[in-house]
Amino acid sequence: MTQALVVQTAHLGDVILTTPLLEALARKHGPVDVVTAPASPPLLETHPSVNRVYPFDKRGVGFGVFDSIRVARQLRKRQYDVVYLPHRSLRSAMLARLAKIRHRIGFSDSPGRFLYTESRTRKGAHEIERIFSLLGEGEPNRTSLALEETDRSAAVRALRDQSIDVADDYIVVAPGAAWKTKRWPFYKELVHQLRHEFRVVAVGSDADRGLCGEPSRGDFADLAGNLSIRESAAVIERAKLAVVNDSAPLHLAGAVGTPVVAVFGPTVPSQGFRPRGPRDQVAEIDGLWCRPCSRHGRSFCPLLTHQCMRTLSPATVAEMVVSVVRGESR
Ligand code: SF4
Repeated sequence: MTQALVVQTAHLGDVILTTPLLEALARKHGPVDVVTAPASPPLLETHPSVNRVYPFDKRGVGFGVFDSIRVARQLRKRQYDVVYLPHRSLRSAMLARLAKIRHRIGFSDSPGRFLYTESRTRKGAHEIERIFSLLGEGEPNRTSLALEETDRSAAVRALRDQSIDVADDYIVVAPGAAWKTKRWPFYKELVHQLRHEFRVVAVGSDADRGLCGEPSRGDFADLAGNLSIRESAAVIERAKLAVVNDSAPLHLAGAVGTPVVAVFGPTVPSQGFRPRGPRDQVAEIDGLWCRPCSRHGRSFCPLLTHQCMRTLSPATVAEMVVSVVRGESR
């Protein structure tokens, strides 16, 4: 059988959006090996379409040169027949070349295309379709994650430790995002409003702890920084709904089938990252002339107003949550 490798060194969310491609490649070649950024292996190492994951720190010491040499050495030993490169990354293309993989397939809009042996045109409106178009045929399934029983039991334990009854309906809030302008600033006020009606659980990284207010036992639990990424996904999986920014938790929720209210500010859904579930809703300020101001968000608002997020009120988002949970939204 052909030995296939995938190099996907983009953010966590992009790795989740790549899972339909991994499934299709596994049907074609058998479970594939994947090179990802150092934070991403836990998303893939349990996945049935994945055989092995190599962490690659392309932003590490010496602009990633040292890690390129280390990983390329490992890859050369495995003698892959083909590598698929869904991410527009010159360093990923260089890694594939250094690894001496004979057949290198990437997209024609990548700066590293001169290092490919075959360039394909990126097609589709959603990023899942665009990534999948690297295969050159077929339609993508929905995204997927392989959670283990240990992930689910750790999630239940963490909820019970905070006196959140897992049999109750609870809402997840995920206030984080890689780029500062993509973080909606009113999660604390939202949690305050939602607590009248629901139990609320916050998830995220260490940096997100405290962004949603003071925890209160049996009422609001702040688990940000306490759980692994798969355990966080298991918390989201049990939730009635998740309120998220245009960031990784949006795609975690999509992969475990939990409806979302997704807050978009400096980016817009038509850029390719819209939630796709039947009950999902987008909270955004329509018609604001400066939106979108970037493809992935920025660290600061160039107008210094952050109006795209600041004019979206907690009451509006809370109403959307209630209407999705009650099944009133279309
Ligand atoms: S320029 Fe506009 S869209 Fe961009 S961050 Fe500022 S307010 Fe938001």
